[in-house]
Amino acid sequence: MTNAELFQEAQAHIPGGVSSPVRAFKAVGGTPPYLVRGEGAYVYDLEGNRYLDYVLSWGPLILGHAHPKVLSRVREVMERGLTFGAPHPLEVELAKAVKRAYPVDLVRFVSSGTEATMSALRLARGYTGRSLIVKFRGNYHGHADGLLVEAGSGALTFGVPTSAGVPQEYARLTLVLEYNDPEGLKEVLKARGEEIAAIIFEPVVGNAGVLIPTEEFLKALHEAKAYGVLLIADEVMTGFRLAFGGATERFGLKPDLIALGKILGGGLPAAAYAGRREIMEKVAPLGPVYQAGTLSGNPLAMASGLATLEILEENPGLYQALERLGQRLEEGLKALLQETGTPGTVNRVGSMLTLFFTEGPVRTFLEAKKTDTNRFKEVFHALLKQGVYWPPSNFEAAFLSTAHTEEEIDRTLEAFRKAL
Ligand code: PLP
Repeated sequence: MTNAELFQEAQAHIPGGVSSPVRAFKAVGGTPPYLVRGEGAYVYDLEGNRYLDYVLSWGPLILGHAHPKVLSRVREVMERGLTFGAPHPLEVELAKAVKRAYPVDLVRFVSSGTEATMSALRLARGYTGRSLIVKFRGNYHGHADGLLVEAGSGALTFGVPTSAGVPQEYARLTLVLEYNDPEGLKEVLKARGEEIAAIIFEPVVGNAGVLIPTEEFLKALHEAKAYGVLLIADEVMTGFRLAFGGATERFGLKPDLIALGKILGGGLPAAAYAGRREIMEKVAPLGPVYQAGTLSGNPLAMASGLATLEILEENPGLYQALERLGQRLEEGLKALLQETGTPGTVNRVGSMLTLFFTEGPVRTFLEAKKTDTNRFKEVFHALLKQGVYWPPSNFEAAFLSTAHTEEEIDRTLEAFRKAL
């Protein structure tokens, strides 16, 4: 069977043929390959084609596919049963690993990034007794109702739903501001600071393509604390990727709550929210904020997460290696843009990177949207034909893994040269 035939058949059984929308290739057209095997930096589709992978399951696989140590740890745990719905020793181990990475006292495990941010927001509301939350345009925090919201007509107006099924009444509790606009944030804090429970933000945005926070913006975020607002760093993507302690370590952030996911589960479904004791003690069974999960903290996900974090923690040189690879890719792409006279901007932090087809700078979602998406589509398909699996949307970050090498970066740049 070919990718195209199976994708056709899938439409009869699964909405759009996919379990998550971006996989359907709507932004780039064409048929998504069915990936059935991965090894290191490479994935293989059911037709036997091999691709150099820059998606890495959208971030979790910082060690590349099928890392032997991760697999053997999972296998070991799996032999003894898949799940018990009871406390398990590996939860304690993984919580301790999170605490070595982040300045937090208590960690609650859930199974997806969506659950982590949704629960962190409920906790922030329960803790502060306030209703409003602030998010930023182009930041994605999963698909909880209150987060599928776009800005109203001005910074101080209430949010409007971006998805059918989200009640207007609920969207109104979310204020949507511009990322990297400290003045806009300060204005809203001055006007409504005392009604706001929390500000949730991506410390480096990956979901508008990569956007890099300015120092002034990060400073303004922290000033919100003076209003009793809790700062929630959504490190689902950046956690354990930009450093072992994520963006919090890399930028010296002081969030009140942190949402983690992706790498935390090492490729199996694990996520978490964490913070200082006084806040986290409001979570059930200690406190009045309810949150639960049948498969939360399940042994398999704890095992793959723990194996992944242990490798990262024991080999800090891996982050330097990722930085060097990222730099090589960034510089190579910039040189190619020049060489081919292509208008473009490369945004990168560590092992997260986006090439936007616009002069730039690209600091906000509105600036990111200036990218030439037709150009992106052509380049994407030209790369795919050459065996390079780049994210199938210009508003997604490309990731590197520790399994990528300089030769693979150079081969990727060669593919880009032909594509451009
Ligand atoms: N937060 C961020 C920053 C993300 O990038 C994502 C997913 O890409 C989420 C939250 C949601 O995580 P999940 O897809 O595991 O629900």
